[in-house]
Amino acid sequence: MGYSDTSLPFGSADAGAHALDSDFVRDQLVPRTLDLNGKTYRPDGEYVLYWMQSTHRLDENWGLRAAIRTANRVNLPLVIHQGLDPTYPHASDRHHTFILQGARDTARHADQLGLHYQFVLRRRRDDDRRVLDRLAARAYVVFTDLFPTAGVRERTERLAERVNCRVLAVDSVCTVPSGTFTKPEFAARTIRPKIAKLLDVALEPVRDEVPRVPLSDGLRASLRDTIAAGGGLAPLAIASLTDDDIAREVTACEIDHTVPAVPQHGGSMAAQDRFAHFLRDGLRHYDEQRNEAGNGEGTSRLSPYLHYGQIASARVVREARARRGDVGATAADLEAFVQQVTTWRELSYNWCVRTRHFDQLAALPDWIQRTMAAHVNDARPHLYDLDELERAATSDRLWNASQHELVSQGIIHNYPRMLWGKTMLLWTESYEQARAWMFHLNDKYALDGRDPNSVGGIMWCLGLWDRSWGNKPVWGGLRPMVTHRAKMKFDVDGYIARVRGTRLI
Ligand SMILES: Cc1cc2nc3c(=O)[nH]c(=O)nc-3n(C[C@H](O)[C@H](O)[C@H](O)COP(=O)(O)OP(=O)(O)OC[C@H]3O[C@@H](n4cnc5c(N)ncnc54)[C@H](O)[C@@H]3O)c2cc1C
Repeated sequence: MGYSDTSLPFGSADAGAHALDSDFVRDQLVPRTLDLNGKTYRPDGEYVLYWMQSTHRLDENWGLRAAIRTANRVNLPLVIHQGLDPTYPHASDRHHTFILQGARDTARHADQLGLHYQFVLRRRRDDDRRVLDRLAARAYVVFTDLFPTAGVRERTERLAERVNCRVLAVDSVCTVPSGTFTKPEFAARTIRPKIAKLLDVALEPVRDEVPRVPLSDGLRASLRDTIAAGGGLAPLAIASLTDDDIAREVTACEIDHTVPAVPQHGGSMAAQDRFAHFLRDGLRHYDEQRNEAGNGEGTSRLSPYLHYGQIASARVVREARARRGDVGATAADLEAFVQQVTTWRELSYNWCVRTRHFDQLAALPDWIQRTMAAHVNDARPHLYDLDELERAATSDRLWNASQHELVSQGIIHNYPRMLWGKTMLLWTESYEQARAWMFHLNDKYALDGRDPNSVGGIMWCLGLWDRSWGNKPVWGGLRPMVTHRAKMKFDVDGYIARVRGTRLI
């Protein structure tokens, strides 16, 4: 069973059935829920397990909602488990630090809400790999996040196969439940009106239940034993860690230490601060300023937080709508922002959930296959190797600045990011090499990397959701974008100066 198997109905007959008690919740939850193994709920299960993978927050978390509702219906306690491994693709100080800072906020929030949240850090590659299997072996049902990238899908499918109870994956990424759209959407213009029609209802706030059955001290202790059983791992006391403690933990992990943490803090508190700052100072200029990479203030810079689920997109849209008047934003500012957070983000998610091999050239439409076949052998104006690109050592100042921003800040402003991707088509031997290197560099350095949006952005550079733009050498019918015309769009010198002020590792 796979996420992209469109024959699988989202929310199949009884998927998450325990979790439903009103029309609203049913309409919102069922089309977010995918039954991954069709196995039975374990009759002697001791708790309901929510395995937190990609939605690192406790509010507006649909997987958690479903888990709590189920636990209350069957009178079982709830266990929230999050693990961090050294083995995920591009595991580095940068990602680990952001994730651990996020887990600290989650742990503190769980304490305030009285929820049982445990965080287990596998520091070494040969540390015990079976903690989750043992926890799942005692669960009535496992809920987790429905996330098609960053290895989450593969990990979930492996667990669903191994474990002997039902595993349900729930989408907390989209504002409008992703299962509402049963096919890959053709373009922004096809998904936009569908989202617009459902958005008001989807944004209605939900009053969350609290778990009714407390976790007994005995169960708490035996969970610790279960975690320790295969090699002595223990839950990390993450709520009390300082930033220095987190840095020490990261140093002890067997990960890539050449990609350092960035000053930007991870976690739901930092996400809320960033969002508050954007609402106060950024939303009112968004329509006019969002392509202005020169000052870096034109957009929200929320993408790392949205990627790690440290803030809910529904909350972002709801609050932006509510605050528009107070902060002096126009309807056009609001609409432009909401379009990014809903249409473009959910189009990427829809593509990844509904398309096989979504990050491969073979997944692209026929017209792109034809134009690439016709132009794959065109002479490229210049060829760089991966090392030169990674070191930002090209002859193009603007491209180097984008790569520099990526390496030093963990993000590229959206407009230079399009140019960054498109330009790599001109500097690589083939479209396949451009695709592979874009993913490599983006996902290695970007805090928002390994996201459905990474796939959407990179595949868009390769023509996805676009139309044919003529027939030029190398580009074929793909939309050409070149750095020397960027001056017409934003303050290129300002951007280069701003980015140069940051240190390249
Ligand atoms: C080659 C390339 C690679 C990209 N890789 C990523 C990536 O790894 N992760 C990522 O989140 N985005 C990626 N994008 C999309 C986009 O560049 C970023 O989402 C955006 O720049 C994030 O900045 P922001 O939060 O300030 O955006 P804002 O303009 O403030 O927008 C708010 C939110 O809307 C969403 N959004 C904005 N633009 C887009 C878009 N074009 N497509 C989909 N969602 C969008 C993001 O979640 C963003 O945080 C990529 C685009 C390109 C062209």
